[in-house]
Amino acid sequence: MKLKEALAEGRRRLMDAEIPDAGLDAWYLLEFVTGISRARYFTDPDQVLSEEQYAAYQEHITRRSAHIPLQHITGTQEFMGLEFSVNENVLIPRQDTEILVEQALEILKRKDFSSGDKAKILDLCTGSGCILLSVLYYCRVPAEGTGSDLSEKALEVARRNAARLKIPASFIQGDLFESLRDTEERFDMILSNPPYIKSAEIAGLQEEVRLHDPVMALDGREDGLYFYRAITEQSGSWLREGGYLLFEIGYDQAEAVSSMMREHGFDDVEIKKDLAGLDRVVYGRYSKKD
Ligand code: GLN
Repeated sequence: MKLKEALAEGRRRLMDAEIPDAGLDAWYLLEFVTGISRARYFTDPDQVLSEEQYAAYQEHITRRSAHIPLQHITGTQEFMGLEFSVNENVLIPRQDTEILVEQALEILKRKDFSSGDKAKILDLCTGSGCILLSVLYYCRVPAEGTGSDLSEKALEVARRNAARLKIPASFIQGDLFESLRDTEERFDMILSNPPYIKSAEIAGLQEEVRLHDPVMALDGREDGLYFYRAITEQSGSWLREGGYLLFEIGYDQAEAVSSMMREHGFDDVEIKKDLAGLDRVVYGRYSKKD
């Protein structure tokens, strides 16, 4: 079986299964199986796959046809130019979340962002660790980071990512700030992309998300705002004065989350849009001690 024949077959099978971006996914799976880059493919599309490679390719196409996310088959997702391990225990990193990371990096660059010797960063609902680890990877000021998550299985993935990318960070299990209870630690920045979908809307999501992303990474309870409320109410106790809280939000949550933040002592509350022009990030500076 030649590469080009396998690719055409994979593409057709994915199209029949109504997989969006069938051609692209057929390509990614072929690359995953053979290790052949797109550039090399074009120099020799008549190259022949081994029997094992063809069998593996067909099996992956079958799984993808059943709407298993591509990333669960390949086990990775690129985010901020870095490769993250993923599995069914973590939310697959989304490109929109890069807006949150870029905003955090922008703040960390500012002169007025002064603190001790190191900027202390906390990432709540860290999942794969993609947010915290890419902020630590790219930030130019000395920084140290902690990621927390309720799911021990998610933290295993985050720790594996930290080790693979050689980024030192600590990961702790607990419900939001719970496991920090006994520390005196105060942070310069709290980041979070919490679950923010209304419970009733989960059933209407596409199959890849609804059945394969962990529900606990999606479900923001009845009004979708549960975690914003809980985090905003408690953040004041964990931020140093002048520290920042940054959230990823759903497209229709900017107003609710900004007013929540203003009510809880945050100033300069700003909204950032994503590449599609939708509200995506809300952030503000903590200025009032209780
Ligand atoms: N922080 C992780 C991410 O943005 C996980 C978010 C979540 O589980 N809601 O990918």
